Amino acid sequence: MTIKSYYANNRIYDFEANIINITQENEDFLVELDSTYFYPEGGGQPSDKGTIGGVRVLDVIKSDDTVLHKLKTRPSKTTLNCSINKEHRDHYMTQHSGQHLISGVLKHSLNIDTLSVHLGEYETTIEIDKASISESEITKLEDDCNALIRSSKNIIYHETDDDGLKEFNIRRSSKYSGYIRVVEIENYDFVPCGGVHLSNLSEICNSRVKLYSLHQNRWDTSRCK
Ligand SMILES: [Zn+2]
Repeated sequence: MTIKSYYANNRIYDFEANIINITQENEDFLVELDSTYFYPEGGGQPSDKGTIGGVRVLDVIKSDDTVLHKLKTRPSKTTLNCSINKEHRDHYMTQHSGQHLISGVLKHSLNIDTLSVHLGEYETTIEIDKASISESEITKLEDDCNALIRSSKNIIYHETDDDGLKEFNIRRSSKYSGYIRVVEIENYDFVPCGGVHLSNLSEICNSRVKLYSLHQNRWDTSRCK
């Protein structure tokens, strides 16, 4: 089992960790650390980039309670310096948090559900459960998003289970059972999610969300300007 330290502190980019297991997969090595700040792919958010012992991390994979770091070469030491690519992590934390915000406002202001999301390198796409949306609705969506950013709402985490989930007014049902993590935009939006996010909406770059493209019911959105 790996301690998932990225949940405890999402702003640690450099740390030291001990290897507890190494397995080989074809030409690559899957390294398990005792604890890690590397976020593995999940919830539409790609895995972190960086280095372990000076070797580039090719991928970070969650496997049950374990986080595996894929490396090209086998580490020669058991205690290693690890470094996460800060720019990459911050970019996706911002995109992901912006997506929560927009999907929340879509639901709470316009009663539109989010069907799927894709966090891309340059833009985030949100697929909505509506064939068309008016200019006035888009304006309201942007205005409400930006008002929430200006109000500096915190992003808060709750750990619960299937029974405990009933206590939350969640926006969409959980894809998992057992241990469930609920992400709250303070007193506004609650959704089950295992990703990493900003700590406060005010951290969204330049404090503004701009929606910039609509294709039928798919929306390329949330590029911060
Ligand atoms: Zn999330």
